[in-house]
Amino acid sequence: MYDPLHDLTPGCNEPYPASYWADVSGPAPAHDGAINADLTADVVIIGAGYTGLSCALHLAREHGIKAHVLEANQTAWGCSGRNAGFILPSSGRKPFSQMAAQWGDEVMRGIHQEMLAGVDTVNALINEGIECDQQAKGYLKVAHKPSKMNALIEQAKLQQSRFGDQIEVLSQQQLRSQYMDDQNAYGAIRYRQGFGLNPLKLAWGYQNLARQAGAKVHCGSAVVDWHSDGKQQVLHTAQGIVSAKKVVIATNGYTPKGFHGLINGRTLPVLSQIIVTEPLSDAQLAACNLLTSNVVMDTRALKYYYRKLPDNRLLFGGRGAISGKSAADPYYAQRLLAVLKTSFPALASINYSYAWSGWVCMALDDLPHIYQNQQQSVFYSMGYCGSGVSFSVQAGKRLAEKVAGRSVPNLPLYNKALPKFPLAPLRRVGQWGYFHYGKIKDQWF
Ligand SMILES: Cc1cc2nc3c(=O)[nH]c(=O)nc-3n(C[C@H](O)[C@H](O)[C@H](O)COP(=O)(O)OP(=O)(O)OC[C@H]3O[C@@H](n4cnc5c(N)ncnc54)[C@H](O)[C@@H]3O)c2cc1C
Repeated sequence: MYDPLHDLTPGCNEPYPASYWADVSGPAPAHDGAINADLTADVVIIGAGYTGLSCALHLAREHGIKAHVLEANQTAWGCSGRNAGFILPSSGRKPFSQMAAQWGDEVMRGIHQEMLAGVDTVNALINEGIECDQQAKGYLKVAHKPSKMNALIEQAKLQQSRFGDQIEVLSQQQLRSQYMDDQNAYGAIRYRQGFGLNPLKLAWGYQNLARQAGAKVHCGSAVVDWHSDGKQQVLHTAQGIVSAKKVVIATNGYTPKGFHGLINGRTLPVLSQIIVTEPLSDAQLAACNLLTSNVVMDTRALKYYYRKLPDNRLLFGGRGAISGKSAADPYYAQRLLAVLKTSFPALASINYSYAWSGWVCMALDDLPHIYQNQQQSVFYSMGYCGSGVSFSVQAGKRLAEKVAGRSVPNLPLYNKALPKFPLAPLRRVGQWGYFHYGKIKDQWF
């Protein structure tokens, strides 16, 4: 599998991975064809995931700029077409309490506002007619140990008092009787805004809207070389050179090794693995008391997440391999299946029908950053830390404002570069250490 820390390109025109989403979503919508001749544009966006497509859509609609999006493979071939489809009212891994301590109340509120705006923008775009199989609203953050409930209650209190968020606290008994009888769950808090959807159909819907607004999307157009001639950014693809005044890097966890000086050594791509089971029978659903299709995530350092899909399969996810070389090893899917069975012992005989993984983009400070070079000719947005389905849309909108020379809110999301990883070549060693620390923490503390 493509490994962004080792490979110089994610390939060209590679097919979608064998995911559940690729199987159930029908044919991909039309795009504008691979680049097959030289081209000059005002703005080029690299990567046709949510970030790139949202940026293209907002550039066209709100600023009259018709960008060209260059995608190496297929639309949403990266994370956007292979995620769990959780719309979460959050971004990054940094707790609000830490934001308040570091930057004060105003900044914390500003970041929260941007996260909610992400969810609102997703909903607004869906309401324009994107059919993406949305499920009932609700995001359950589950305590994986009794001792984790206090921290969840504190989190709920902080968000209720500072932002007026509506968050319910559910005891173990309430959770197991009203939502699902998860044997690893000891209570939960429940956010009303989160929900599940089909992530690939969502991306395809964004592409249709962006093209209707005048943007061009070119799949099968990997950028394999890039330099600046002083006036223009010059991007090489297999069959044509694309020159532009401004370039947006929207490659997130799929950014190839050494791609651009502005971002090199500033992200850590981490594999997240998903399995999707066979459909559960009525008897199996009843035995697990699986009443909800709310999206579920636990409190572990190394998180597990799941949801019941519209056809009664369970999607179950967690960390995957460390390197691309080992990504397809069935060990990682089997490990998830084993954990799923500890949550729902009634599913002891169930198997999975689909297994795949993808590169989540981690940032050293656990926050996404939308930033640019001094000359305002190269821009990027990345580092969503595994929760970018909703925020990437807001990020794309803010990116478009930056590209168009408009001002954006004065927040660390937008006014600070991604911090560099110390000893960047050793990022994988650090990740290996964190996985071991996480395992011990989750088991013993
Ligand atoms: C298994 C998994 C589960 C996840 N679940 C959730 C979830 O439930 N909720 C949530 O909020 N987040 C989730 N995420 C994270 C979320 O999917 C991402 O934050 C989001 O999709 C990022 O979108 P993006 O457009 O920035 O990047 P991507 O969708 O990764 O798009 C980047 C694109 O850039 C292209 N590219 C790279 N290099 C080049 C090049 N040289 N030339 C041209 N194109 C190039 C790639 O082909 C790729 O299509 C999950 C991620 C994974 C992997």
